[in-house]
Amino acid sequence: MPNTQTTTERAAVEQFARDYFDHLAPYVRLESVSAQHRGIQDTADWLQQTFRELGASYATQWNEPGGNPAVFAQFKGASDHTILFYNHYDVQPPEPLAEWHSEPFEPTFLDDGTVRARGIGDDKGELMCRLTAVRYLQDHGGLPCNLKFVVEGEEEVGSGHFDDYVAHHADDLAADVCVWEGGSKNEQEHFTVTGGVKGILAFDLSVRTADVDLHSSLGAYVDNAAWRLIDALHSLRTPERRLAVDGYYDLVETMSAGTRAAVDRMDFDADGLRERAGLRQPFLRDDPKLASVNEPSLTVNGFESGYTGDGVKTVIPREAHAKLDCRLAQGQTPQACFDLIRAQLDRNGFRDVEMTFQLGEDPFRSDLDDPYFAAATDVAKAVYGTDNVRVVPNSAGGGPQAPVAATLGLPIVSVGCGYYGSGAHAPNESLRVRDYQQGAWYMVELMRRMGAK
Ligand SMILES: [Zn+2]
Repeated sequence: MPNTQTTTERAAVEQFARDYFDHLAPYVRLESVSAQHRGIQDTADWLQQTFRELGASYATQWNEPGGNPAVFAQFKGASDHTILFYNHYDVQPPEPLAEWHSEPFEPTFLDDGTVRARGIGDDKGELMCRLTAVRYLQDHGGLPCNLKFVVEGEEEVGSGHFDDYVAHHADDLAADVCVWEGGSKNEQEHFTVTGGVKGILAFDLSVRTADVDLHSSLGAYVDNAAWRLIDALHSLRTPERRLAVDGYYDLVETMSAGTRAAVDRMDFDADGLRERAGLRQPFLRDDPKLASVNEPSLTVNGFESGYTGDGVKTVIPREAHAKLDCRLAQGQTPQACFDLIRAQLDRNGFRDVEMTFQLGEDPFRSDLDDPYFAAATDVAKAVYGTDNVRVVPNSAGGGPQAPVAATLGLPIVSVGCGYYGSGAHAPNESLRVRDYQQGAWYMVELMRRMGAK
């Protein structure tokens, strides 16, 4: 049971979070839309200034090795443990503007207990919550440990320079643990503590079967590019709809018993997903929860060949193109998977199918037994209730975590104050004020617990 003193302090922090929100609100009003190249420098300046006001011993903007500036700040605390916080200050474009019910860049408090604005959920509110904890602790005896913040400005356009920033500034970023962005309550209202990401490989396949499109009367004896590419794609799948690529699954690391147990305790609303998406096919795997964490995928994102317009056009297309992505499980790397798929296509007789690498990101998963990771989970149970916390070993999505973990050699944990209904990237993005207040208390307690390690 929480003691009276804790209860009183929690109430004080939660009230402070609401009051201090207005002080930080200018951050939301800055229109830092990376895709549209606007508001970037003003926002970086505001952050640097705010870190200084909060008592940072050092606050700067990094411009090397290029792209939008990353803001870096560091704070001295009582213990010599160091937490590195990762956030991004850029946001998605607000368009379509007509669908907003209030000004996109004006934080608007609503009767349903939410506050609405572009970027409030992804990811400005999360950083504000962390800064609130810093202000509170500074005013109540000081920080329990050293804190570092790195806030990048290109996350919404693919974090093109972030790996380079990490490599370039590895000494500055050295820490014991990295607290990442993107934490939220799921649809079951359970607070999630996430330890990593899947990897991704994206590539194109193209084939050309003639120099010109031909009359389809030749189709009795002339093959066509669309069939050729479909055959190549089909050769990459087993009847069980797994990848038919030699060596592909051999790369996947075996899960520890603890990680497997965490997967079993995860929430997964299969019926809800079926209903919301109107799914007409059965799931590919019997255990979609396990698949979301540890199963590689091969997805055809798009396919183009021949004529698909009105009426009839009896033609044999000379070329066909497909875009694909693979979500990678722990142990797989984009280049290794690319090479295995290429080799398999060659063995299957499809040397003429060209394969072009588009994008790759390694997977990453923290050791769930790491004391810092365990601290994040323990504090969550204390703040949100033991039954209301779920550990997600790694999300089904991606993110630039692997280079951070590899370069800095630390565990990464995603925790925050978002919720399933935040509508990130969509009009009327929102944050629940209660989550924000609870999140500030969680951050205060997390800094204390990690600082006492
Ligand atoms: Zn985003």
